[in-house]
Amino acid sequence: MPGSLAHDSVKVFIVNGLKRAGAKVTLQRFSTPDPYQSRTLNLTNIVGSFFPNRKQRLLLAAHYDTRPWADEEEDEKLWQQSIVGANDGASGVAVLLELADILAQRRPKRVGVDLVFFDGEDYGKAGDLQFYLLGSKHFVANLQGYRPECGIVLDMVGAEGGKIRQEGNSLSVAPQLTQELFARAARLGLDVFVPQRSEPIYDDHVPLLQAGIPTVDLIGLPYPYWHRLGDTPDKCSKETLRQVGTLVVDFIYDFGF
Ligand SMILES: [Zn+2]
Repeated sequence: MPGSLAHDSVKVFIVNGLKRAGAKVTLQRFSTPDPYQSRTLNLTNIVGSFFPNRKQRLLLAAHYDTRPWADEEEDEKLWQQSIVGANDGASGVAVLLELADILAQRRPKRVGVDLVFFDGEDYGKAGDLQFYLLGSKHFVANLQGYRPECGIVLDMVGAEGGKIRQEGNSLSVAPQLTQELFARAARLGLDVFVPQRSEPIYDDHVPLLQAGIPTVDLIGLPYPYWHRLGDTPDKCSKETLRQVGTLVVDFIYDFGF
């Protein structure tokens, strides 16, 4: 969770992974008054750019912060504890870091790729929508002419037995990209992806969509350990992660016009 030592270590871990893969790394630091304590909340988006001179770009994003409150636990006494976030946080990061290693070895045809690790996605308490998506909102407020062709957000993409459906906001605002990704998944035989509409989710793709960047949220819901202390690595599966990674890699290396 933001402000913890673990949060600082994961930041170093991501930056080192990106640098090792040869990315140009930019830290986008920002701070905001903590809505829940009298302190300043210091947050950092991490951007790893591959082939930064290429004009046509793809954005792949995941949030790396984990939720400070296990507020989906039935026992209210547990709500003040932070979650591990193996699926809700780490899974998307894992896919992006693996992608970094692949990009280090093989160049896409024409496109440059930006891997963006958002901070502060899951900071809000239930109902406090304005304190969610802190990193992606800050990113979109500071685009400075950055205009990727499209974006993919990965969130909760690692659960054992998890399924990813066509998230409502993605399907409404970026229908072409959503359908293209799910058709591609079907061609590749990836059964984690189910071409069925699901509820709209308020996730990091929403600010990107509002900024006019067609973005799809690949999110595995329902997840029984969502915002609970049980969101630990044993609930994750290599196979789910493999399928998500396969889809994203296939999309990137096929992209270009
Ligand atoms: Zn969450």
